[in-house]
Amino acid sequence: MPTPLLELVAVGRTYTSGGEPLTVLKEVSLSIQSGEFVAIMGASGSGKSTLMNIIGCLDTPSVGAYSIRGVDVASLSGDELAALRRDTFGFIFQRYNLMSDLDAVENAEVPAVYRGMAKAQRAERASRLLQDLGLGDRLQHFPSQLSGGQQQRVSIARALMNGGPVILADEPTGALDSQGGKEVMAILGKLHGQGHTIILVTHDSDIASYAHRLIRIADGRITSDEQQRHGEPGSQTQPSPPNMDDKQGVAVIGESLKMALRSLVHNRLRTLLTMLGIIIGVAAVVALMAIGNGAKQDVLERIQAMGTDLLTIMRGPPAVRASSNMVTSFLPEDLPSIRGVPGVAMAIPETNVSSLLRFGDQDLTVTAVGTGDSFPGVHDWPPKSGVFFSAEHVARYAQVVVLGQTVVKNLFPQNTDPVGQYVIIGSSPFLVIGVLSSKGLTPRGDDMDNAVWLPYTTAGARIFGQRFFNDFVVRVTPGADMTVVQAELHTLLMKRHGKEDFNIRNMADTIATANETQNTLTYLLAAIAVISLVVGGIGVMNIMLVSVTERTREIGIRMAIGARGFDVLFQFLTEAVMVCFIGGLVGVVVGIGGGLAASAVAGWRVIFTVAPVVLAFACAFLTGIVFGYLPARTAAQLDPIEALARD
Ligand code: ADP
Ligand code: MG
Repeated sequence: MPTPLLELVAVGRTYTSGGEPLTVLKEVSLSIQSGEFVAIMGASGSGKSTLMNIIGCLDTPSVGAYSIRGVDVASLSGDELAALRRDTFGFIFQRYNLMSDLDAVENAEVPAVYRGMAKAQRAERASRLLQDLGLGDRLQHFPSQLSGGQQQRVSIARALMNGGPVILADEPTGALDSQGGKEVMAILGKLHGQGHTIILVTHDSDIASYAHRLIRIADGRITSDEQQRHGEPGSQTQPSPPNMDDKQGVAVIGESLKMALRSLVHNRLRTLLTMLGIIIGVAAVVALMAIGNGAKQDVLERIQAMGTDLLTIMRGPPAVRASSNMVTSFLPEDLPSIRGVPGVAMAIPETNVSSLLRFGDQDLTVTAVGTGDSFPGVHDWPPKSGVFFSAEHVARYAQVVVLGQTVVKNLFPQNTDPVGQYVIIGSSPFLVIGVLSSKGLTPRGDDMDNAVWLPYTTAGARIFGQRFFNDFVVRVTPGADMTVVQAELHTLLMKRHGKEDFNIRNMADTIATANETQNTLTYLLAAIAVISLVVGGIGVMNIMLVSVTERTREIGIRMAIGARGFDVLFQFLTEAVMVCFIGGLVGVVVGIGGGLAASAVAGWRVIFTVAPVVLAFACAFLTGIVFGYLPARTAAQLDPIEALARD
């Protein structure tokens, strides 16, 4: 005797689920040779399907041994069992178990997908098998468009897709009328003739009579086992699996993408709602970062517009603001010694007081700035027309004034030159000798052009009524070391004032502070966006778990016809990642659109950079993987038998 194809020795199967253990197979010993046509017959509930599932490696014996071609099944890994189901066995089920959203060709193709057969070859072979089974004109029909007999023939084509040397048919005619049943049996007979080993389960003795060997089973035990027909045992040449171009793996990826896309399109609304979280998250990251960057750039430019090599000496000790008004020690006498510090290019005093300015019969509240003649040089702020006042104006308390753009705009009719006109500030008349160019907003957003500039001497005497200043502003010589100059000024003023009643700020500090503030804001926005991404991810996980539950039966079918756990995992992961990928893509577009809209409607400056876009997108992608993994693994770990039993 050659090694039997299949051999069961004292196999038993006990179900333990749900209370008392139930033994449905007892001491089943059985060997089947290659090329046999066996019918297993018994009443409903006698254990036929259980036996069949064990033979087909969908289930494992509780006791006893089962070997295929002399190899003990208990020694095989999950993937090796999947390979047996895929390449050795071809399953035909009573209820066909076709996938409803695949057409006839695609249904027949599935086992070859898991074998890694290339698409074109797969489709060609599936079409040919279907044609041989008389379904040439039904290739693109979906299961719902086919009769029972036709569906069963599609499932036979599927069983033959990878060669199917052993065909396992569990009540293949159970759901068919007698004509359909006869056709299926004729096909099985023909396949037997071509060398396929056929194992058939039935409760119908007419159907069983097609087989050459009849095994009767009752209450989980074999009661008889006899040859009933001594005709030709069938061809001795076993059917071999189809040849394949070696494109292993690629087929599964393509199939997963196709299935994922199909499932997403099938559940359009649900997909869209699931994606919404991801879309909002990604769009928020992209838009908010662009707006944040724009705001930051605005602030930095405003600071830079004021000059980067400036030191501002302010009244009051460092970090004690309130007392600064009491400090009266910033005096004109300080100026020559400040200018004498090495590295100081220019130094001016600045005192800003809100004052009423009158021209003709119009009043305007402006900032009156008492300062020195080098103000335009210190702040890089040249006159637009006329001139700035000179050192001589300062020295002789000249009643001259330079106007800012906003003042001109508000007080003078268009196209009139204010230079040469008189304005009243406080109660004194001042001759307008120049107009400064526009400077825009301060970093805090105040209008710098709503100001007028006067010699500090005149301003102190006529308007402010004080000799002392609010600030000194120092411009450092290009190339000089800011910190050294700052330290020397500190020493100088300590000596002159006798105490630290001043604090010195440099622009680098100001920029750093502004940067920090803006960054904090940007990160805050980013954090909010990331939170919404996480929420979106949880949504994805939730819907994927629902999807797995809904498609448990499909998973069972796929496993029965050869999908490995990994294939199932990959398929569901692909779906989750695809949701997030598409959501991410849409989110990027919406984010850019939102940013542009904000800039168009609110006039905000937006700066798009690649980093947040890539980051947001990568986050969405990762969200898919992370939150898709759990549902995908749940699917991959399903028991094929239980999955198949699900409706
Ligand atoms: P048949 O195919 O001969 O009709 P089955 O092999 O499907 O019978 O079932 C045999 C017995 O095992 C039945 O009594 C059935 O209720 C029981 N059974 C089948 N599957 C399970 C299961 N997963 N858990 C518990 N009992 C089961
Ligand atoms: Mg059954």
